[in-house]
Amino acid sequence: MPLIVQKFGGTSVADSQKILAAARKAIRAQQQGNQVVMVVSAMGKNTDMLVDLAGQINDHPPAREIDMLLSTGEQVSVALMAMAIDSLGHKAVSLTGGQIGIKTDSSHTKARINSISTERIQRLLDEGNIVIAAGFQGIDEDLDITTLGRGGSDLTAVALAAVLGADTCEIYTDVDGVYTTDPRALPEARRVSKASYDEMLELASLGAGVLHSRSVEFAKKYGVPIHVRSSFSDTTGSFVVADPEVPDQPVGGAALTRNEARVTVKGIPDRPGTSYAVFSKIAEQNVAVDMIVQNIGEDGKADISFTVLSDDLPSTTGAVGSAIDELGAGQFEVGETVAKVSVVGMGMARQTGVANRMFRALADADVNILMITTSEIKISALVERDQALDALRAVHSAFELEKAPESTQSTGDTAMRVENSDALDVVTRLAGMEDLMIDEVALDDSQARITISQIPDEPGVAAKTFENIAEADIFVDMIIQSFGHGGRANLSFTVPRDELDRAAEVATSLAEQFGCGEVTSSPQVAKLSVSGVGLRSHVGVAIRMFKALADAAINVEMINTSEVRVNVVVDGAHGQRGLECLQTAFADVLLC
Ligand code: ADP
Ligand code: ASP
Ligand code: MG
Repeated sequence: MPLIVQKFGGTSVADSQKILAAARKAIRAQQQGNQVVMVVSAMGKNTDMLVDLAGQINDHPPAREIDMLLSTGEQVSVALMAMAIDSLGHKAVSLTGGQIGIKTDSSHTKARINSISTERIQRLLDEGNIVIAAGFQGIDEDLDITTLGRGGSDLTAVALAAVLGADTCEIYTDVDGVYTTDPRALPEARRVSKASYDEMLELASLGAGVLHSRSVEFAKKYGVPIHVRSSFSDTTGSFVVADPEVPDQPVGGAALTRNEARVTVKGIPDRPGTSYAVFSKIAEQNVAVDMIVQNIGEDGKADISFTVLSDDLPSTTGAVGSAIDELGAGQFEVGETVAKVSVVGMGMARQTGVANRMFRALADADVNILMITTSEIKISALVERDQALDALRAVHSAFELEKAPESTQSTGDTAMRVENSDALDVVTRLAGMEDLMIDEVALDDSQARITISQIPDEPGVAAKTFENIAEADIFVDMIIQSFGHGGRANLSFTVPRDELDRAAEVATSLAEQFGCGEVTSSPQVAKLSVSGVGLRSHVGVAIRMFKALADAAINVEMINTSEVRVNVVVDGAHGQRGLECLQTAFADVLLC
């Protein structure tokens, strides 16, 4: 018999009428011949209210007790949902995370799922029950209650769908699908018929709160098709599956991360190991670092800028302070009123002229770009927070995201689960279901790097630069713009090696036009990459790369990170050696 997992978020169970409406949806699915597992969140803003209550009693409540407290929210909902189904004349059983056997590690408030037992759920389903699982919670080895991180009920739903071999995992929420950007921020956003796991993973981690990013990671790893749809209507929503809506679309979605903070560490020695010294200290605080940009050093000194979520700023600056003490040099400063606007698309990895469209849109909206980083499927620009919404609107419109694409792939055949042998292989080989999975360590030595130094820190420079490069039909891979000092920033990018001379010519004439400093280039760079699932949520991956390269005395020149890949650029002479040391460093988690 087909099996469906249906997850209802907080607003979808906010009062008794909504609980009854959700119950009816589950009953109808059962009557249509499915076994049904419901995953339910805490009612409305109950979790926020509990967090607030804890804060009134203790400024630093113990994480174990937070979990004990927050898990009660979901326990209320599942009991009421079971009563609702019973009142409508059907059989239902509610279960807590512990009763289901969702075993997690012991990192309270952000626990990872290690394993899930399915016997009890399967038995109850076979007996004709609708099984109602409490979202967001599990238990550790000591039977202590853990929670999976805010928004974690999505993860419970996808994880149950994976282990039960569900045909689909329906996420019922207060929007009717996945939009090109948050429809609450931009009303012109368009609902997409489907999004690929990789796009959704990037968008989710960039602030598209409609799905928890770890739930998408999980879905990708285990091949679970997700259907995001409205609790308040029966319309088909959006499918999150392996393929994108339009295969070659350069940009499929945009996102705004409002609560970012920038940290710039200046005047540290430019030698192998300094990045490691800084970022390992931050990782010890379990803080995920984003948008890392290292300035090519002058006078043997380097600057590194990066962003973290604003909430993580205090622990980050503490860690940076102690790294500076250890290095015996340097100082840092922070920017607390910044935001990050990003575009994501599967097609951009193969097309010229994507980045310049984004930068042009920002320039025309008079938005100054403070920092730029890119990955294969994402371009992010750091801007002042008070310009963030204008920036998002400009970028959304530049890529015409509000318009329906001309060709879309049909969703019908991809909405159902595809048995994925790779995924099954993963299940058997990982100790914990959310363990880091690395599928490739690779070397690309086909590129060259160009750096334009001292570009004026004002709107329009990046736009003009990449417009001219695109006009010359040169493909640009990595782009990094450092945080500027004294009104000047450095802009580095990589191009295919055989295009270096032409690209350098374009860059030199631009540098003259804008009154920039020197244009330098390196014909031989090596891009080393580690790809897999869980790279950013397992904060140690970039650190492990830095450490391995530092131990081999290889200096990291550029770095970019995405959900599925971390790339570093090093001197081309060290490419092969770098590859070997990374293969050794990741041997324990490398699956192939
Ligand atoms: P739930 O309580 O059901 O889990 P959430 O509040 O976590 O619901 O997620 C739904 C919200 O996600 C929507 O109300 C919407 O404002 C927000 N959102 C952010 N980005 C997107 C996006 N790209 N598409 C759809 N919704 C989005
Ligand atoms: N109730 C939890 C929260 O508000 C989990 C969830 O809703 O997904 O974060
Ligand atoms: Mg949610």
